[in-house]
Order: sequence, then structure tokens, then C-alpha cells
Amino acid sequence: MKNNNGQYEIGGISVTSLVEKYDSPLYIYDTAIIKRQYERLVNAFEGTRLRVHYACKALNNINIMRYICGLGAGLDAVSIQEVQLGLKAGFAPSDIIYTSNSVSIREFEEAIAAGVHINIDNLSILEQVGLKYGSSVPVSIRINPHIMGGGNIKISTGHVDSKFGISMYQLPHIQRIVDTYKMNIDGLHMHTGSDILDIEVFSKGAEILFEAAKHFPDLKFLDFGSGFKVPYKPDDYSTDIELLGSTLTQSFNDFCKEYGRELTLKFEPGKFLVSQAGYLAAKVNVVKHTTSTVFAGVNTGLNHLIRPMFYDSYHHIINVSKPDGTPRIYTVVGYICETDTFGWNRKIAEISEGDVLVFLNAGAYGMTMASNYNARLRPAEVMVHEGKDYLIRKRETLDDLLKNQIEVL
Ligand SMILES: *Cc1c(COP(=O)(O)O)cnc(C)c1O
Repeated sequence: MKNNNGQYEIGGISVTSLVEKYDSPLYIYDTAIIKRQYERLVNAFEGTRLRVHYACKALNNINIMRYICGLGAGLDAVSIQEVQLGLKAGFAPSDIIYTSNSVSIREFEEAIAAGVHINIDNLSILEQVGLKYGSSVPVSIRINPHIMGGGNIKISTGHVDSKFGISMYQLPHIQRIVDTYKMNIDGLHMHTGSDILDIEVFSKGAEILFEAAKHFPDLKFLDFGSGFKVPYKPDDYSTDIELLGSTLTQSFNDFCKEYGRELTLKFEPGKFLVSQAGYLAAKVNVVKHTTSTVFAGVNTGLNHLIRPMFYDSYHHIINVSKPDGTPRIYTVVGYICETDTFGWNRKIAEISEGDVLVFLNAGAYGMTMASNYNARLRPAEVMVHEGKDYLIRKRETLDDLLKNQIEVL
């Protein structure tokens, strides 16, 4: 982020100048980092047929989605609205996988009518889709491999108590439904959680999918979901994508030989593609010395970036107004009337009121989880692309808060 002159910049543009131009709080996305991550993943799997579907629940600004579409990715959508955004962003229906949980058969019918590929994660819907569509609609199945993976229980989705997927032990029941309705099962899927560091989790999951795949003769793809961990702290570990690539490519290609057909290997990363590409810039309103700590209170809070409070996630914080400042210890807090602490005891270049702080790794699950709590307005979004900055979402106004309210008194 620091350029040759020691100033902080994003995609070649000074962060403080962006805040002067667009005000704060401000989400800033750097498309070059998204491209770097996409290409890293593609290169790691160059020995096999790979298809990347971007999980847009991480960041669904239409411009970012369009950019990722332009890189050649497909889309992973978890709701019909994400499907609709994806179509608007330019993804072909056949490049969209709809992987929902606990939605009604109606939403599946809408997805099928839109021509997107559906991925089913419970026996009830499988049976209803079978009854209504028989073999006319290709369907993939989300298997719960019962693997514990992910940074913590809230973001782990493959364990035995998880609501996601159909248990691998229910394979006979799946087959009974599939045979009865002559369903066209063209893919198997798993997604075991987020922040998975250990590539063993993927390898174990792969073995389970390979085993299950033998029961379905018409497969076209196996989808290993996502959950790649990205670095948060300056010296943090992250999933070794290159090692995962070489390991999984080998076992996948071996399996394809055994299966008798070349299948496509799919991943659906969200965080991996956009986390590091995103920054949240905020201004320090108040520096407050208490008996035990020094608080830096900023003009944003859990309404704009809830991950630290929701998942205990770490977001590195930089004072971009003081590139050469001496570090001191601060606790950085939001302006919401809740305890919304972004970080305790952080070493940050000496803060004055009015300084701009930047939260790193804010691209994924930042803006998409933002709310209007405390009647605060949501931030503007800026995209830095090929050396230029573009406003891609206006800052909200009071009208936005009142837009759907009906005054009856
Ligand atoms: C959330 C989600 C993803 C993306 O997970 P990341 O950890 O952001 O990469 C992928 N697939 C499905 C089905 C998801 O629900």
C-alpha cells in the first residue's frame, strides 16, 4: 500500500485524496488485486479443467460482479436476488450456480425458469424437483461430508450438526429419489466452511466426493466449494493455493481416469477473490484517554463492518494520514451505541482527530453485511480500476431510510 514516496495508495491513487474527494466512511476496491487472486487460482490448477464461480455474497456491487465476469469466472448465487444481480452483471444463466439453503420450491422454480444451474441441499427439495421436472433439468447435489473445517463454528458448514448439505450417509436415499424420477445429476458439491487453512480438509472432502461420485454415472463436474483462508495479519498464514492446486489436480485427474470421463473441477471462492482487494476508510472523530486505554473513535462501526464483532475477525488498521508516525497503542472503536470494537491494543501511527484510518481485508462480507442500524447511512463505494477511481455506489441519504416506510399517523 505504501508507494515509493512513503504515502499510502490503493491502485496507484492516494487514499487520503480519495477520502477528500468522496468523503468517509468509504469502501474502496482495487480491481488489480481481484485479477491477481483470480489468476493465482487459475494458474494453480492449470493441469486440469477448472471453472471458478465467484461467490457474490462476499461483495455484490454490480461493477465488481461485471469485472469478475469479464475475467472469465462464473457465479455462485445463494439467493434468487443474487441470480438476478448476476444476470444483470452479464453472467450467462448457464454460468450461474444457484446454491441456496432453506428456501422454498418456488424459488427453485424461479431459478430453473431463469435457466441457471441448481444445486440442491436437502432431500425434500430434491424430491419435489424430481417429481416436477424429472430428467429435464440438470441438477447437482450438495453433499455434507461431515468434516470439521473453517476458522470457527459460525463459519463451518460441513460438520455433522450443520444445516447445510445432504449427509453422505443418506446417499441411498438420494439414489432412491434420483432413480425413481430419472433425474439428471450432473454434479456433486461440497462447501465445508470459511477460513480453511489446512489443505487436508479439501483432500479429505475430495476423497468423499470421489467415493460418492461413483454412484452417479452422468456427472460433468465436482464442485469443492470454497473456504480458502487469506492473510489478515501482516505475517499471517493463508491457504497454500499452489500446493492445493498440485495436490488436488493430481488426485482429481486420477479420479477422472477411474471414472472414465474428464470432469470439470469447480471452486466458488468469495473471500479469496475480493477480501484483500477491499478497504474501508474512516475518519477519527474522537481520541479518548480513559484510565486504562486510549480509544480512537471512528465515523463507522458494526453497521458498516460487522466481521470483527460477529466473527472475531482481525482487520489490520493503518493510519494513512501519518505514514511516518510513531506507533502508539490504541483501541479502535465505532460510533454505534453497542460495543463495536474493531481492534484492541493495536500499534498504530500516532492518531490525531481527523486522521484517516484504513481497515484492510474489507472487501469480503463488508459492504454486503452493512446495515442502517442506529439510522446511520451506509458508505459510498469506489472502485479503482486501471489507475482511475470510479464512484460505484452513492452514499445514502435520509430519503433512503424513509423510502419504503408508509406514514399512517
Ligand atoms: C459463502 C459461500 C462460498 C464462499 O465462501 P468464501 O469463504 O467467501 O470463499 C462458496 N460457496 C457457497 C455455497 C457459499 O455459501
